[in-house]
Amino acid sequence: MAFETSPHATTERPMQTADAVIVGAGPAGMAAAIAMRQHGASVVLLDEQPAAGGQIYRGITNAPAERLDVLGPDYGAGAALAGEFARSGARHVTGAAVWQVTAERQVHYLQSGGVHSIQAERVLLCTGAMERPFPIPGWTLPGVLTAGAAQILLKGSGMAPSQPVVLAGCGPLLYLLGWQYVRAGVPIAAIVDTTDGADYRRAIRHAGGALAGWRYLQKGLALMGALKKAGVPFFKGATGLHVLGDDKASGLGFTSGGTARTVQSPLVLLHQGVVPNTQFSWSLRARHIWDDAQLCWSPVTDTWGELDVPGVFVAGDSSGIGGARVAALQGELAGLAAASQTGKLPAPMRDRLAEPLRAEMRQHLFIRPFLDALYRPKKANRIPSDGTIVCRCEEVTAGDIRGYVDIGCTGPNQAKSFGRCGMGPCQGRQCGLTVTEVIADARGVTPEETGYFRIRPPIKPITLGELAHEA
Ligand SMILES: Cc1cc2nc3c(=O)[nH]c(=O)nc-3n(C[C@H](O)[C@H](O)[C@H](O)COP(=O)(O)OP(=O)(O)OC[C@H]3O[C@@H](n4cnc5c(N)ncnc54)[C@H](O)[C@@H]3O)c2cc1C
Repeated sequence: MAFETSPHATTERPMQTADAVIVGAGPAGMAAAIAMRQHGASVVLLDEQPAAGGQIYRGITNAPAERLDVLGPDYGAGAALAGEFARSGARHVTGAAVWQVTAERQVHYLQSGGVHSIQAERVLLCTGAMERPFPIPGWTLPGVLTAGAAQILLKGSGMAPSQPVVLAGCGPLLYLLGWQYVRAGVPIAAIVDTTDGADYRRAIRHAGGALAGWRYLQKGLALMGALKKAGVPFFKGATGLHVLGDDKASGLGFTSGGTARTVQSPLVLLHQGVVPNTQFSWSLRARHIWDDAQLCWSPVTDTWGELDVPGVFVAGDSSGIGGARVAALQGELAGLAAASQTGKLPAPMRDRLAEPLRAEMRQHLFIRPFLDALYRPKKANRIPSDGTIVCRCEEVTAGDIRGYVDIGCTGPNQAKSFGRCGMGPCQGRQCGLTVTEVIADARGVTPEETGYFRIRPPIKPITLGELAHEA
């Protein structure tokens, strides 16, 4: 692959160039890289992880047999994609945290304490999803993690709790982790599920889609059956969730079946679905819309995933939650479009290759409205009471934010000026959705009218010393 000096380079060191820079080595990024390489494009793929795989296939390239067995066949299936990616000829830069992507398609990243830049013809943002915040009383206590974080420890280094854990919330990842823990021999004190009868009634309206996506339904039912067979205590329709403990978690309190209950555990794992990681698309000032079915922001793209920022594409869960196979298909589509734009693939051939991908994607998306309706997170677990912290970095509570609204604050950017929420090291990644929803609710307007933080680089924390290194 050729790396040439860019005419845009202004520093003494020549800037690397490539036909495409892809951010994220999950299913979307790997599939995009493979597609582009098949048509002769030069590709640099940057990911902050030490190996390819993304969230679903994290650690797949060096997982021992025992871990593959615990994590199950859907995880193991990632080995084929990771292998194809490794053979594709794309340059994979690991441990590379991308902190800025510009509209001129310069990509800046941090690796081993040094800052590097690449000038790309096209940029593909495949940064995946993040877990939705779960701001309930006590959620910031030591001993409370998200289920996804616990699963990262399991996938990445085979670490699992030795004491009984409580899993609470809703959504496929929560039950999947429960199932994986059962297989790993982890004691589960309880699964506290917030899904209730109203959710089932809402979901049943999408039963047609659920039947069309029967394979997903079958997998979900098998997971639930296995948890039941293992004798895991299961509480349905849980409300009033709060973490017990003063300076660290000691369990979870909630109401289920009309009875107030507590489950003792030093480890509480919360989860209520995943949402697109849109930090880069926001920082590029691309257009976003509020998706009321998935209760999150989604970037607006054309049918290939291109933003209204020319030459910048979004694929996979960072464009809307569709799951791993949809992510890979979207990555391939974006890869074909980017290869075509760089003159490496004639448009008629691009369109012919895209047809079966689009057909398969429709099949996988049939189930989505059913899942979105069934696992719609409860308002009480998204829009917290006054005393609950919303911005963990700056310790701003929901009550503080409502106070700003009382004195005229209309949106998240004003809330920043009032009380610094969203201005800490995570740059609003963890609190952004909650801030939008708390303000929208307090003002009685829609999230769309309320808006989101004006995201600015650095998207990942970087020190002045590291920046100076580049200059
Ligand atoms: C914690 C978590 C666990 C999950 N586990 C499962 C599971 O077990 N099974 C399942 O079916 N689905 C799981 N999902 C859903 C899963 O994200 C998708 O189905 C699928 O992985 C999406 O693929 P993707 O390629 O869009 O993104 P991902 O697989 O999420 O890949 C995105 C990649 O982008 C990288 N990245 C992001 N930002 C930057 C940056 N600034 N600089 C450098 N690299 C960056 C990340 O390191 C990551 O490797 C999980 C989601 C989360 C959030």
